[in-house]
Amino acid sequence: MSSSEGGVAAKRRGRRAHAHAPGAHDHAMPDLPEAVDIFDTTLRDGSQQEGLSLTVDDKLRVAEQLDHLGVAYIEGGWPGANPKDDEFFARAPDELHLSTSTLVAFGSTRRAGVRAEEDETLGKLVVANTSVVCLVAKSWDRHVIDALRTDLDEAVAMVRDSVAFFVARDKRVFLDAEHFFDGYRHNPDFARRVLAAAEEAGAEALVLCDTNGGTLPDDVERIVGEVYDSTDTQIGIHCHNDAGCAVANSLAAVRAGATHVQGCVNGYGERAGNADLSATIPNLSLKLNVRTIAPERLERLTPVSHHIAELVNIAPNAQQPYVGASVFAHKGGLHASAVARRRDLYEHISPDLVGNGARVVVSEMAGRSTLALKAVELGLDLDGEVLGRVLDELKQLEHEGYHFEVADGSLELLLRRATGWAPQYFEVESYRVITDHRVPEAAGRRGEALAGLLSVSTEATVRLRVGHERVVATAEGNGPVNALDAALRQAIGPHHPPLANLHLTDYRVRVLDTGRGTGAVTRVLVDTSDGDETWTTIGVSENIIEASWQALYDAVVLGLLRAERKGR
Ligand SMILES: [Zn+2]
Repeated sequence: MSSSEGGVAAKRRGRRAHAHAPGAHDHAMPDLPEAVDIFDTTLRDGSQQEGLSLTVDDKLRVAEQLDHLGVAYIEGGWPGANPKDDEFFARAPDELHLSTSTLVAFGSTRRAGVRAEEDETLGKLVVANTSVVCLVAKSWDRHVIDALRTDLDEAVAMVRDSVAFFVARDKRVFLDAEHFFDGYRHNPDFARRVLAAAEEAGAEALVLCDTNGGTLPDDVERIVGEVYDSTDTQIGIHCHNDAGCAVANSLAAVRAGATHVQGCVNGYGERAGNADLSATIPNLSLKLNVRTIAPERLERLTPVSHHIAELVNIAPNAQQPYVGASVFAHKGGLHASAVARRRDLYEHISPDLVGNGARVVVSEMAGRSTLALKAVELGLDLDGEVLGRVLDELKQLEHEGYHFEVADGSLELLLRRATGWAPQYFEVESYRVITDHRVPEAAGRRGEALAGLLSVSTEATVRLRVGHERVVATAEGNGPVNALDAALRQAIGPHHPPLANLHLTDYRVRVLDTGRGTGAVTRVLVDTSDGDETWTTIGVSENIIEASWQALYDAVVLGLLRAERKGR
């Protein structure tokens, strides 16, 4: 067996007494390992998520973020499975400079009836040229017979030959035992033979996969424990979240002896996703005192989670444990003022530990004390009289349909304006949007609107002043908001370069007072990101374009203000 180079964990059997919680009975507490290796598979398993598609550039940037976070291993993809992954591994040596993590290539074991040396898949893995390969093998007998259509002896030989093939080429090999828990329940002998073959051939870690994601923590702990007692090789865990237990199952596996933990940042993955490393890591490090990433890097968790969400272009889930924008937000007057005095009574950990921030949520239900806390959070000095005025204004606006609780960005601007601040970046004279909807004549005559023939184009013009200069810009877009955004960027972009770093990440429309039909009021929320931070701004109007414009305007103003403060 080769020695560790990328891992942080004491490899095998490195157990120590658990740090006991006060009042716990000694005999009730299992031993826990001192450290585990975190193996991120966002770029391989995570990218199976519906709607998630990464370019090679995106993949390189996600890998950089994972390295910055400090996971032990980054699974980069499956060379040979698609040209994108081939390109990723071809470019990685020159373009990816990992300081903490080790890059891993994934692939299947050799095909049935083919010598390892002649197997195309294994050949591609050799070309990918990583120091570690992760091989997936079927460990459920039914899959061997029904899917692979070969016999169990050949399936075991495929594992042994494939692992030996890479060990002979000085590669470190991890074995992903696919469907292990289901397989172990149906035919434990075969499941164990697969692990034994890999172990004998020199695999460094045996990763037990709950591929269908339906196993519950008790079973995971029991089965991992049984495997642990029968092997000297490092055990890994790979859980899917179909039963909502992927993180709990990963912890259960560690309690039973696993010291290699696979998952994806933000829990990406097909169906219900993989184990969310953004929760697994702090649960292990902060609650169970098992080392995962370097302790001083834990505070990178929230920024990295958000940055990766941006790269994969999926809006972050505000309720995601540990890293979500709402998970340390406190609402309501009495509660929020109590939080200010004794945060530990209302928070399961200090949000700073994972780089998240406690946040005061302000709404019309808020009292003056809540608003005062928000002002302090923003570093603003508002006296009692001003606070009273802002509160009145806020209540009036909420009555009209604004909802500041979900629009932190617009709230910040409201509070800043109350201090006498006014943005000086640009001054809007007017904007105009034209949408042109053309039905081809032939279709019109037949009275049909043929979706495929219909042409809709949108053009926006903004007129504004930047300093002493008057600017008029016109741009096209795939819709009115997109066109307005493009025209605004065109007009002020040259004067405000940081605008190039701002991205609209989400746009939501809600119709209020629906009883009024098309005359109802529209509320628009826009999420914007500068790469590290995301903020939400709001617009409300009977006119959807005007509501969008308000939200867009606040988004850009706040983005420029933040860039200024960050010295960009
Ligand atoms: Zn998987």
